[in-house]
Amino acid sequence: MAKLTFLGAAGCVTGSKYLVEAAGKKLLVDCGLFQGTDDLKQRNWNSLPTDPKTIDYLMLTHAHLDHTGWLPVLVRDGYNKTIFANPATIELTEILLKDSGHLQEEETEDAQKHKWSKHAQPRALYTSEDIDPVLRLLKPMPRSGGFDISAEFHVESYDAGHILGSSSLELTITENGMKSVVVFSGDIGRYDQPILNDPKTPSTKQIDLLLCESTYGDREHEAGDPLQLLGDIVNRVVRRGGSIVIPAFAIGRTQTFMYYLRELENLQRIPRVPVYVDSPMALSATDLYLKHKEDHDLEFSRDEKNGGDPLNVHEFHLTRTAEESKQINNVKTPCIIISASGMVTGGRVLHHLAQRLGDARNCVILGGFQAEGTRGRALQEGAKTLNLFGQVVPVLAEIVEMGQFSAHAGKSELMRWMTGLQVPPKQVYLTHGEPQAAQSLQQAVTQNFKWKAAVARYLDSVEI
Ligand SMILES: [Zn+2]
Repeated sequence: MAKLTFLGAAGCVTGSKYLVEAAGKKLLVDCGLFQGTDDLKQRNWNSLPTDPKTIDYLMLTHAHLDHTGWLPVLVRDGYNKTIFANPATIELTEILLKDSGHLQEEETEDAQKHKWSKHAQPRALYTSEDIDPVLRLLKPMPRSGGFDISAEFHVESYDAGHILGSSSLELTITENGMKSVVVFSGDIGRYDQPILNDPKTPSTKQIDLLLCESTYGDREHEAGDPLQLLGDIVNRVVRRGGSIVIPAFAIGRTQTFMYYLRELENLQRIPRVPVYVDSPMALSATDLYLKHKEDHDLEFSRDEKNGGDPLNVHEFHLTRTAEESKQINNVKTPCIIISASGMVTGGRVLHHLAQRLGDARNCVILGGFQAEGTRGRALQEGAKTLNLFGQVVPVLAEIVEMGQFSAHAGKSELMRWMTGLQVPPKQVYLTHGEPQAAQSLQQAVTQNFKWKAAVARYLDSVEI
């Protein structure tokens, strides 16, 4: 009997990993890193209940680290078969994994030097050396349409509108002449957003199992025009002589912010202030956003055709080295700093916050989901201080949450995506959500659609 095991993103938003076992074969969908609380991060050090050497295939929904960031461990532990992903996802995964390897090394060194870790002998989960063996296994599958992974597994991809290359995957399993279908929503993006195509619901006529993400299963994003809101913030902060720090990964939200800032500049609704994108990988990520035209929505294609440079503000500064990054500390006039990580779990944004959180003229914009246990969540919930590099930093800066910039569908958008299914799924599992969010979406699905729905539980196996 075919079965699926939730190896992550069950009861939490990170560590996405789903193991399908059917027709004597094993297929892993996503291989994400756990992030957030210490308990979750501890799971990154546990071995899988299945020997990686025995897994036959792997495919990725998109490049975010909570879907790819554990690949170096899996490969080091013996996985040596193909990793299927579409071309945009492959290129982004390469950038993200290399960065992740560096970051883990840097943080471990830093922790050893300054002794801020809870561990006596802090060590890195993996290092840069573990990345190349992963990259060698990546192999492209089509951006849309059907693809045979093997005689047993056939997959169709649909745009998920979440980040470049993000897809929902429809897996058809053939076992003893019988077909069963599992739909993986992946991370679902927003409708009517700039740059990327809208999410598209898979059109299969049979669904035995639907795994639907529930990041925002219990809430809607704030209403309001993002352009107007961002313009208001920039004007307000610049007027009082402050600066804006935007924690954001180099991929996705960085491009969205750049797009809106450029638009505001073009419309002369904000003054031109220097924008520092403090990330060695932001430029390559932006290049990929421009290169993969198959992902572009109509508006973005039109901007480009008209000779625009929609992802480039006028006073754009890209900092690659740590030294250049430190020099931003000397900028005392209003500026905007976009820097990773998006949930303030690590990366250079920590330095910028240590530098600027204590000044009430400054502002921090939280544009993305802030998982439980992260410093981003603490800021969102009104923390008065933040621990940075073993020091207690007072939070005096204005903290603004802008759900308008979220890359994740809000509750009604998740429902809209599911409404697009052609047939009712026989069983639904809500994944990739904290317990309250997943339960809330489960109730909505049960009440509105009358489908059999349950919240996925970590390490549970279910029949397909
Ligand atoms: Zn994602």
